[in-house]
Formats: sequence, structure tokens, C-alpha cells
Amino acid sequence: MLLKSHTLPPITITKISHEKTDNLYLARLDQLPYPAGGNKWFKLKYNLLEAERSGIKQLITFGGAYSNHLYATAEAADYFGFQSIGIVRGEEHLPLNDTLQHCVNKGMQLFYMSREEYRRKTEADFIQRWMYEQEIPTGYLIPEGGSNAFAVEGVRELVGLLPSDTDIIATACGTGGTMAGFIAGIKSHQEVWGVAALKGADFLVNDIQSLLSGYQDTAGKNWKLLLDYHWGGYAKLPDELLSFVQQFKKEQGITLDPTYTSKLLFGLFDLADKNRLPKNKKIVVLHTGGQQAWDGLPEKKRIFLSE
Ligand SMILES: *Cc1c(COP(=O)(O)O)cnc(C)c1O
Repeated sequence: MLLKSHTLPPITITKISHEKTDNLYLARLDQLPYPAGGNKWFKLKYNLLEAERSGIKQLITFGGAYSNHLYATAEAADYFGFQSIGIVRGEEHLPLNDTLQHCVNKGMQLFYMSREEYRRKTEADFIQRWMYEQEIPTGYLIPEGGSNAFAVEGVRELVGLLPSDTDIIATACGTGGTMAGFIAGIKSHQEVWGVAALKGADFLVNDIQSLLSGYQDTAGKNWKLLLDYHWGGYAKLPDELLSFVQQFKKEQGITLDPTYTSKLLFGLFDLADKNRLPKNKKIVVLHTGGQQAWDGLPEKKRIFLSE
């Protein structure tokens, strides 16, 4: 199978222009030639290898209706010859939005779980019973967002593809798996910064620590979460943030995604404006993809972006 022989191609690093800092670079994961690009591919890689090693042909995972993770899993499953099942939070809405339609086009079978039940998606017994009742055949279960120990391992490898003189790696944070992978992969003089896309995301500190439990040498590593750039919550995209995305596109020629990298870059620009970025440290900011999510947004927002 292709999976094992995959050597990683170089990642394009572009300088971000900002009048107050010279140290910001963008790592274009979103341009990598993998199914769904971005960080999700790295999170899936060792999960797919594990499923293959266990002889399991079907992947089962979870996500919201605009989930980059469902999108990436559907693509990767199709590309590497797995079947896939997506358990979607909430009720079915027809016609399907572009994200879910894409999943179906890639062969993913969709099931819907009520919001109350969805909160229990990490309870193994509950999920087994729910799947049995829905007559969903068993398969390799991947948690929401793909964040587990295999994900951490996949992202950890990525650190080696970033410039060797990187001082700080900055990433957007949803479930924390990506951040945990970078923490596992950095050298002791390096740092990881995460900008949380969710409101009240203090719980991420614990989640990240438990994702790192398989790595002995992470205790003294430098990392911090920035919790104040969530804009009111996970899927919130107020006009001010949208104008920032538009401005960023005009000035840097790069489209950010509506949920994660928009908040990440806004946060870093805000710190730069306030002279709160360290001088003489090279900050490599991760463009983790996710632009597919624009297709699901209301017309007004898309028009605004394409102006
Ligand atoms: C999922 C995602 C993230 C966050 O990754 P986590 O590992 O869940 O923290 C960041 N950026 C994009 C574009 C994503 O799709």
C-alpha cells in the first residue's frame, strides 16, 4: 500500500509581511499534495497504518456538519482503499452542505447523532451500543478531530520538515492533537504557541497533557495556549474577523480558513501590533488548511471574501 512509502515533500515557507515584525513565516501545509492537505492528513496517517495493520477495512469517525476532519477522513479513506463512516453531530439537513456532499462523493456513509448523544461520543460503551442499535458495522474508531496518540505521532514527524532555525511554532487549536504533536517534536530551545478556536478552552491544557502521556521528555518543554482570540466561540465569524481575512488575502495573497487560521493570524498580528512578539525569534505559523469550509458558509460571507 502507498501509505508506508510516502515520503514527505518539502513544505513551502513564505514570509508574512507586517510593518512591526520581520519574524513571521507561514508554513503552507494547506498546499501539500495529500488527500485534504492541512494538518488532518498528518493526524490520520498512523491511524490508517494501525487500521491496516489490524486488518480493519472500515474507518468510523465523528464531526460536525462542516468538519474538516470528516472531509479529510473521507478523502484519505477513498485514496487508500478504506471504507468510511461519518457520524455527524445533529440532524440531517437536505440537501447536504458542500462539506458533507463531498464526504458522500468520496464514498463516506453518513449517520446522524443527536446533540445530547454526541456529547457522549468518547464513552466507549455508549458508542458501541449506539452503533449496534443503528446497525453500523464495527470498524476502526477515530475520535472527533482525529486526536489520539497516533495523531500526535504523525504531527510530531512534521516538525522535522520545518526550517531548522525555527524558534516558535504557532498553530491554531481545536482539539489540541496538532499542538500536542508539535510539543512532542520540538527541541528544548523551541516553543509552541496555540491559539484556541473555542471559547473557554482551558480544558485543552489537560487534554494536551494526556495526549502527551506517551512521551517522557515533554515535561520541561515550552508551550502556551492563547485563549483570548476565539471571537465568541468555535464557529463564530464576526465581520471584523472577516475583514481581517479579506485584508490578509489582499496583502499576502493567501486565503485563510474561517474557523482556525483566521483566528491564529489575527491573534499574532494583534500581538505584533502591540509589540508583544519576541524580537529575534523566528516564528513559523502553520497554515493548516481548512479552506473547504468557506463553501458551506452563507452566500454573504463568500461574496465578501471574493471581492
Ligand atoms: C482541525 C484543524 C485545526 C486544529 O487541530 P486540532 O488538532 O484539533 O487542534 C487547525 N486548523 C485547521 C484548518 C483544522 O482543520
